[in-house]
Amino acid sequence: MEGLKLTVRQHPGHKTLIPLGETAIGRDFALIAGPCSIESEDQALATARLVKSEGALFFRGGAYKPRTSPYSFQGLGEEALDILARVRRETGLFVVTEVMDPRHVSRVAEIADILQIGARNMQNYPLLQETGKCHRPVLLKRGNNATMEELLFSAEYILAEGNPHVILCERGIRTFESYTRNTLDLSAIPSLKEITHLPVIVDPSHGTGRASLVPPMSLAAVAAGADGLILEVHYRPEESVSDKEQALSPSLFQKTAREILDLSRFFQTPKTGE
Ligand code: PEP
Ligand code: MN
Repeated sequence: MEGLKLTVRQHPGHKTLIPLGETAIGRDFALIAGPCSIESEDQALATARLVKSEGALFFRGGAYKPRTSPYSFQGLGEEALDILARVRRETGLFVVTEVMDPRHVSRVAEIADILQIGARNMQNYPLLQETGKCHRPVLLKRGNNATMEELLFSAEYILAEGNPHVILCERGIRTFESYTRNTLDLSAIPSLKEITHLPVIVDPSHGTGRASLVPPMSLAAVAAGADGLILEVHYRPEESVSDKEQALSPSLFQKTAREILDLSRFFQTPKTGE
C-alpha cells in the first residue's frame, strides 16, 4: 500500500495501545455495547446497567444518527448528550458516540470518551481532520464501499493532525448478497493487522443486520483476532426506534457477552509473531 505513512506497522510487535482509565484498547479486549440510538434516559440507563453487569467497560449510543431517509428519527442530539453524560457519571462506563458534523466535535468530546466516525463519514475529510485535532480517541468505521487501503488513508488524516489514538472498525461492506444487511469482512481483521499498528474492532450488528447472526459472528471476529466488538443491544428490541432487527435482547446479550469474554480470554495469551 503505497503512500501510507503513520498507520504502517514498523516492526512485528508494533501496536498502538489506547489507554482509558485502567484499561487499554489494543491490550485488553474491548466490549462496547448499547443501543443504536439514545431514546430516553430510562432506556439508556437500563441498557447501560445491563452492559456493565456483563463486564463490558464501554457504552455506545447515538445522539446524532446518520439515517438514510431525512424523515427517519435523527437522534435526540443535545438531549442525548446530557443523557450520555449522566450514564457516564452513574455507571463509570466509557461512552462511545458518533459525531457527524465538524462543528460538533468539541462539544461531543466534552462528554464522549471515544468519538465514533460512522461508515457514511469515513471519507468526510474535514470531519476526520477536526477529530484529529481533539484529545479523544476516534473509532473510525469502514465505509460500506471502502477498501482497506481507503480506510487506512482516512485514519492517516486523523493521525496527521496529531491524534495517535484511532481504532479501526470493520462493520460490513456492500456486496450482491441481500440476506444480510452487509457482508461482514472478517478477513479485514488479520489483513489490517498485517499492515497497521492500530487496534481493529468489529461491529457484527451493522455487519449482519440480524440479531440472530450477531452471536456467531462475534465469536468468529474474536477468533480472527479482533481487539474488541461493538454490539447493539436494546432493553426492548421490538420498541427500538432504529435498527430493531439487529438489536440483541437483554438475555441474548447476556449469553453472547459471556461467550465473547470467555473466548477472548482464551486468545489473550500473546501469540508468536506479535
Ligand atoms: C451506528 O453505529 O449506529 C452506525 C450508524 O453505524 P455505521 O456507521 O457503521 O452504519
Ligand atoms: Mn445502528
